[in-house]
Amino acid sequence: MNNMPENRYRQKKQYTDGETICIWGNEYSLQIIKTAVPDDIFMLFLGTGISPEALKKRFRHDMSVIELSGSNALLYVPFCHTEKNIKTANFPAGTKMSCPEPSFEDRKAAYKTAVYRLFTDKINEILHKWEKKTGLKCKSWHITDVLNYWGQCSSWGKDICFNINLLCRPLIFVEFVVLHELVHVMQMNHGPKFRAIMAIYMPDYKIIDKKYNSRIIRVIDD
Ligand SMILES: [Zn+2]
Repeated sequence: MNNMPENRYRQKKQYTDGETICIWGNEYSLQIIKTAVPDDIFMLFLGTGISPEALKKRFRHDMSVIELSGSNALLYVPFCHTEKNIKTANFPAGTKMSCPEPSFEDRKAAYKTAVYRLFTDKINEILHKWEKKTGLKCKSWHITDVLNYWGQCSSWGKDICFNINLLCRPLIFVEFVVLHELVHVMQMNHGPKFRAIMAIYMPDYKIIDKKYNSRIIRVIDD
């Protein structure tokens, strides 16, 4: 990729305010927004033996979201008030309570959940579009997190995998990868027939591949 300042994304992420992240080829400033697990739900779980930590995990899937707004990527990170905190505030009088700061692990887990959701929605959208256009259909697809390929198509099951690290590439390249793997459903090799089908649906696919296909960079650190 020629015009991407890749080095910036090689630093270990801290998932804090102002950090630069890249989504679909565009840079955004990350903003952490704490979202409380509703206190009434938290109160319901008090005394059941479920810890605030476990409750937070339970809500992570639904409440961790990334919203793109102008040049900002708003990351919603769920948290729970502590039991002590709620009692001090004389719940449910509505007194303002101080919020615990989300830990690195909280922010990272929320980020991972949120970007997987973002990625899943976009791939579904692009895949369905190309399935409709080409008449080709894959049986299923799933996400991988690897450094050696963007996508793969199994020869027997028509199952496709897409690399989560496509998230930081421009959408035109994501479109190319999706179409490429979909064409493999009917043509496993990269021979003349494969190239002819690619050229019908994406005449400049070779240019797109050459321009954006560079070293894979992790969007979520280990
Ligand atoms: Zn291929």
